[in-house]
Amino acid sequence: MLVGALEQKPIRRVGVIGSGVAGLTLAHALQDLVQVEIFDARSELNRKEGAGFQLNGGLASFEANLQRAVAEAGIPLEGIQSRSKAWFGKTENQDYSTLLQLNINELIRQASGEVTDSLLDDKGMARWTAITRGALQEVLRDNLPSTIPIRFNKKLTSISELESGGVLCGFDDGSSSGPFDMVVGCDGIRSATKEYVNTAKIEETKTSLAPSNAIYSGIRIRFAVVDETAEDKQGSGAKLTQYFGDGGYALHGKFGAGKGRPLTSMAVFVYLDENYIGPFQVAKEKKDRVAVSENADWTQTVEQQLESSRSNMLSQLKGFNIPDKDKDLESVIRNADRIYELGSYFHNPFTRWSRILKNGSCVVLCGDAAHAMPPFLGQGSNQAIQSAYCLGNKILEYNQKLGDDKYNITLEKTLAAYREVRWKPTFGILWKALFLGYLETGGGNGIYSKPRDSFFQLMGAVGVAKGVLLGAAVPKIM
Ligand SMILES: Cc1cc2nc3c(=O)[nH]c(=O)nc-3n(C[C@H](O)[C@H](O)[C@H](O)COP(=O)(O)OP(=O)(O)OC[C@H]3O[C@@H](n4cnc5c(N)ncnc54)[C@H](O)[C@@H]3O)c2cc1C
Repeated sequence: MLVGALEQKPIRRVGVIGSGVAGLTLAHALQDLVQVEIFDARSELNRKEGAGFQLNGGLASFEANLQRAVAEAGIPLEGIQSRSKAWFGKTENQDYSTLLQLNINELIRQASGEVTDSLLDDKGMARWTAITRGALQEVLRDNLPSTIPIRFNKKLTSISELESGGVLCGFDDGSSSGPFDMVVGCDGIRSATKEYVNTAKIEETKTSLAPSNAIYSGIRIRFAVVDETAEDKQGSGAKLTQYFGDGGYALHGKFGAGKGRPLTSMAVFVYLDENYIGPFQVAKEKKDRVAVSENADWTQTVEQQLESSRSNMLSQLKGFNIPDKDKDLESVIRNADRIYELGSYFHNPFTRWSRILKNGSCVVLCGDAAHAMPPFLGQGSNQAIQSAYCLGNKILEYNQKLGDDKYNITLEKTLAAYREVRWKPTFGILWKALFLGYLETGGGNGIYSKPRDSFFQLMGAVGVAKGVLLGAAVPKIM
C-alpha cells in the first residue's frame, strides 16, 4: 500500500542489535509473530558480568510466566533504609542516624490506583525483586523459543539500505545479515545504531570514553561484587541499605543470582571526582584532566589492580565516615572477586529514536540506546524492559492494522507513538536521577553534610522520597 511516497510494508523480519535486557525483552515481546534474530558484540552471555538491579515496573511488565520465572531467580525486596552518621552523638546501640526506612509492601499497599494495580500481585505481594543482571539475562534467554537465535561475536559496524528492500547489518568479522524490515538498536550507552539513527552513518569508534554527545557528570561509581557461600540461599527478602557519608554515598544489598543459587552481595560507592566540579574540570595538573570512562561493557578491574581497588574502597569507607556498624560493606569489599569502576555520563535526551529509510524499512532505538539515564534511581533496566514491550506492542499493532483503511496506520505514526509513550517517563526519571546523584554525593565533609542529610530526611518525612520512588516504579507502556 502506498501512502505518500513511502510504501507501507508489514514488519516481518527484525534484527536486534544487543542481547542485554532490552534486546532479550524485545525478542520476548515479538516472539512467534515476527521473525527475530539477535546479534551481540560479546562472545557469550556471562552470568557473572555486572552487579544487580531492583526490578519493579520492569517486572510488572513481563507476561505472567516470565514474571514468575524472573521473580524466582531474584529475591523479593522488602525494604530500603537510609542512614547517615550519628548526628546526635553515638549511643550504645546506635552509631548512625536513620534518615528513612521504607517497607516496600506497606508502601505499595498504602498507595492506591495504578501503584497497587501494577505493583501488587494476586497474593498481595509486591512486584519488586532484587536480581543480578546475569541471572535476569539468563532467565530471559532460557525462556526464549529456540527459533530465535542469538549470534555472538557480532559487533555492528555498518547499516545499509538495499535497493531491493530492507536493511543489511554488517559486523566486525566481515559478515553481514539481513535483509531486515526493521533493525532495533538495543546496544546500550555506546550505541552504534544510535549513531546511525542520528547521522545516517557509523564511524569507527575512536576512544574508550563516551560518545562525543555525552557529558561526564563528575560523579564516579565503584561496584564491589561477591557471590555468597551456599548457606546464604534465597530465603526471605532482601534489604537495601544506603549510607550518606561525608563527600560520598554507599549502598549495600543482596541479590538473587538464579533459582536455588547462593545470593550475590554488592557494595557500591558513589563519589565526586576530585578533578571536577559537576561537569566542569578543575584539575590543575594536565595528567589529572582525564574523565573517567563510562565503561559501557562493564569491564572488570583487571586482576593486577583488584587489590589496589579493594584497598582504595576500604580507605574510602573510612574517609566517607560511613557508619558500617554490621561491617556489611567492609565484608563485601574484602571478599569481592570483581570490582567495576564507572564514570556517570549525561546523555542528550533530545536526540532521534528512529530513522525511516527511503525503501520503507527502518532503524529504531530501545533501552539505554534511546534513553540512557544515571543509575541513581535504579530504573535503567526497568525502563529498558518497558520500552521493549511498548515497541513490541506497537510493531504488532502496526502489522495488524496495516491495510485496513479504517486505521490509516503508517510506520511513521507507529514510531512516533512509541516515542511519545516512552520519552516523557524516561526523561522525567533522567533528571530526577541526576539530581539524586549530586544530592547523594554532595554535602562535603564533617558538619557540611548535615544540610544534605536534613534535606533527605525532610523529603522522607513529607513523602517526596516515596513519591519519587513509586512514581518511577509504575510501568508506563501504553
Ligand atoms: C555486561 C554489563 C553489565 C551491567 N551490569 C549492570 C549492573 O550491575 N547494574 C546496573 O545498574 N546496570 C548494569 N548494566 C547496564 C544495564 O544493563 C542497562 O543500563 C539497562 O539494563 C538497559 O539495558 P540495555 O539492554 O539497553 O543495555 P545493556 O544492558 O548495556 O546491553 C547492551 C548490549 O549491546 C551489546 N552491544 C553494544 N554495542 C554493540 C554493537 N556495536 N554491536 C553488537 N552488540 C553491541 C552489548 O554487548 C550488550 O550486550 C550492565 C551492562 C552491561 C553491558
